[in-house]
Amino acid sequence: MRKTFALISLGCAKNLVNSEQMLYLLDEAGYILVPEPEGADFCIINTCGFIDAAKSEAIDCILEMAELKKAGKLGALIVTGCLSERYQDSILDELPEIDAVLGISSFGDIVNAVEALDLGQRPQFFADRSAPVEEIPRVVSTGPGWAYLRIAEGCSNFCAFCAIPYIRGRYRSRSMENVLAEARDLAAHGVKELIVIAQDITRYGTDLYGRRCLAELCRELGRIEGVEWIRLHYLYPDQFDDELIDEIAGNPKIVKYLDIPIQHINDGILKRMNRRGTGAEIRALFKTLRERIPGLVLRTSLIAGLPGEGDEEFDELCAFLREARIERAGVFPFSPEEGTPAALMAHVEEEEARRRAELILSLQQPIMDAFCQGFVGQTLRILVERYDEEEQRWIGRSYADSPEIDGEVHFDGLAREGAFSDVYITAAEDGILYGEEV
Ligand code: SF4
Repeated sequence: MRKTFALISLGCAKNLVNSEQMLYLLDEAGYILVPEPEGADFCIINTCGFIDAAKSEAIDCILEMAELKKAGKLGALIVTGCLSERYQDSILDELPEIDAVLGISSFGDIVNAVEALDLGQRPQFFADRSAPVEEIPRVVSTGPGWAYLRIAEGCSNFCAFCAIPYIRGRYRSRSMENVLAEARDLAAHGVKELIVIAQDITRYGTDLYGRRCLAELCRELGRIEGVEWIRLHYLYPDQFDDELIDEIAGNPKIVKYLDIPIQHINDGILKRMNRRGTGAEIRALFKTLRERIPGLVLRTSLIAGLPGEGDEEFDELCAFLREARIERAGVFPFSPEEGTPAALMAHVEEEEARRRAELILSLQQPIMDAFCQGFVGQTLRILVERYDEEEQRWIGRSYADSPEIDGEVHFDGLAREGAFSDVYITAAEDGILYGEEV
């Protein structure tokens, strides 16, 4: 009888792509995916270990599955991803309920791991975390109508607060040929929106081709029939050049939405955190982008309570946010990650960092609300995601909304999942737009 498995994917979109690759490999090998771990022969938890909160979530999830195992309701427990990579020396000792572990360059060994389990072994697969990206097909689990397109792995920026370069290895681009082949395949299967992701997409190509190739990649993606939206996530502020800005401004398929994490605006903090560029350069970049890309929606992420942030630096950040009116922002309290330089630097208490993060959120709220209100009376192109039976309305997203992190558009009409609809916006509330199909 064919074995069944469940897969729990935690963390970010990049991790989800790895989960999708494991789904493909297991499906090819004849294993059957089931929606719930209860009753499955094995369960894979693809973990995130980026910050403390993510680690706690992953450990809670492992313990929950361990309970199922103990109760005889689950066969084996396999842990993959960032947490297992980060704690590869200790994870099997610390969590004896785990039967197999795979690191972030070993997703391709998932079938080998399951087979080793059958032989009564407790397999561990940890390949070189900076090895070239392994090209593995995937079963797309997102959509309808959209999919992530990961163009690189790892990060070589070494921001002082971030554990990613130590967990995911140095920056490695996928070849343009492979990225475009995958994009064509996704488009052939009905994907209309490609969400281009990597820890830092602005560096795409620098390791493989010796130059920045994001503009060229976007140009080529724009030529693929069926692709209608290209969304760019995680652009490092100091890596923009004229070619890239012109491409974003002039390529009608690139949605005018850019995710540029800045983390902070104070020069001293940026320097201490090993971020390249100054506050003045970030301000100038945002001004240039807004001038050259009409209707641009900016998303950023910020960290409150970073080492070196006193009242004055925090006030500077708040003043910048009031003036920049960034439409979308994610805010995290500083979390000292073991093994990173910032963890050894003096910083405010966790509670104070949390308080500051909340203050930033409350400062951002009216800015984001006013931005949403600005759509009332306009007609927006919406990528339709689903029909909500309870609400009896269609739900989709406009160019201003990235999946999972931004708002939605709820509307009446005769739409189709995975297709576009034009929707006249009649109201906005709590980040959600309401309207009617035209
Ligand atoms: S750019 Fe900085 S914050 Fe982002 S993944 Fe790389 S090291 Fe971490």
